[in-house]
Amino acid sequence: QVDEPENAGLVLYNTCSIRDKAEQKVFNRLQNFKRDAGKGKIFGVLGCVAQQEGEKIFDRAPHVSLVCGSASYPRFGEMLVQLESGSRRVTGLSLDTEETFDTPFTRRDNPHRAYITIIEGCDKSCAYCVVPFTRGPERSRTSESVINEARGLAERGFTEIQLLGQNVNSYRDPSPAGWDFARLLAEVGRVRGIRRVRYTTSHPRDFVKAIVDAMDENPVLCDHVHLPVQSGSSKVLASMDRLYTREEYMRRVEWLKTARRKYSLTTDIIVGFPGETDRDFQQTLDLLDEVQYDSLFSFKYSPRPNTAALAMENVVPEDEKQRRLIALQEKQRAIQIRRNAELIGGTQEVLVEGRNQALAQWIGRTSCNRTLNFAHPETVDSLVGRYLPVRVTRSGPNSLVGESVTVV
Ligand code: SAH
Ligand code: SF4
Repeated sequence: QVDEPENAGLVLYNTCSIRDKAEQKVFNRLQNFKRDAGKGKIFGVLGCVAQQEGEKIFDRAPHVSLVCGSASYPRFGEMLVQLESGSRRVTGLSLDTEETFDTPFTRRDNPHRAYITIIEGCDKSCAYCVVPFTRGPERSRTSESVINEARGLAERGFTEIQLLGQNVNSYRDPSPAGWDFARLLAEVGRVRGIRRVRYTTSHPRDFVKAIVDAMDENPVLCDHVHLPVQSGSSKVLASMDRLYTREEYMRRVEWLKTARRKYSLTTDIIVGFPGETDRDFQQTLDLLDEVQYDSLFSFKYSPRPNTAALAMENVVPEDEKQRRLIALQEKQRAIQIRRNAELIGGTQEVLVEGRNQALAQWIGRTSCNRTLNFAHPETVDSLVGRYLPVRVTRSGPNSLVGESVTVV
């Protein structure tokens, strides 16, 4: 790798097409290096925009010579050889794959936290979502390969593992062991040396009680669940094809609220889905009051190619979507201010992630996934990677401030 793209012989754009804005960014950025084409630089587009737009990318950006969706990454080396031996244009666009990303070549930038993809693709068909078209069908890795990777990471000094997938809960071990997600989670939590395990994302339909039970059993499984609801209106949920009602979602929230440990709960919400009335939107605001999320990601509905929602009527105008987004974010901000303030006076264990020199604070993350910046009384070289108890002294809408209560 080089420090500046100007010095690279091969420039790869890793792309996202979940919303239109991300997709447009790719095409804008592709223009930045157009003038370098023909000077021996190779340009490639990878990821979901590559999968979605395919060979059309060559028309829009003729200096690109490689277009490759994620399912074809195992063929990447082979494609580069083709280019070097004179091919003008190479594509990897097949979604007909068993590929499960079982690779020894993962780049790890953070020395303490490692990500493990346990399942790829998605078999759901949410009406707004492009993922099933860009990532293909679900395929899970064997439990043996996941556990071996987790053990290897622990041996190399990693202490936090995040299990990844579009829908981790529908994980199904393809080997005879046949573990479900709850079992896999429990077993990763037992790997010696691993102090924290997180996972994302959970689809509410597949979020079963056994997952909460597994988390209750073992504090290594972090105090946080991300459970995207998308809307508080059962009518909108049905037209989104989310496969659960508001009541079914609330049952899962109840499991978490009545569990043995206190869990932090976060979500994703889309505003302005076609047909969403003021009344539907009000139900989403009411849901926020009822659930009291610790944080959320909110999005304006963005029409995506190939999806069922494209054909839906009663499109919500852009300015109304914007109004709803702001109303939602304001309500959530007030909830977060209150919820974070409740933590003042308590002690949280943090994993130290960095240092803010300007504020003379260390940056920590709690098990419940909050940023907790803190002062440490001793002069020490670095606390990064340490787990320390920190007393919370102040709070804001998005983070906490505290002081370290141990000597190291
Ligand atoms: N598999 C996850 C979601 C992955 S996409 C799940 O089912 O929950 C991450 C988030 O992007 C989604 O939860 C949704 O809130 C948002 N999103 C996806 N498609 C979108 C679209 N077309 N417009 C706006 N937001 C979208
Ligand atoms: Fe997209 Fe998630 Fe629905 Fe799959 S489950 S279609 S990834 S929103």
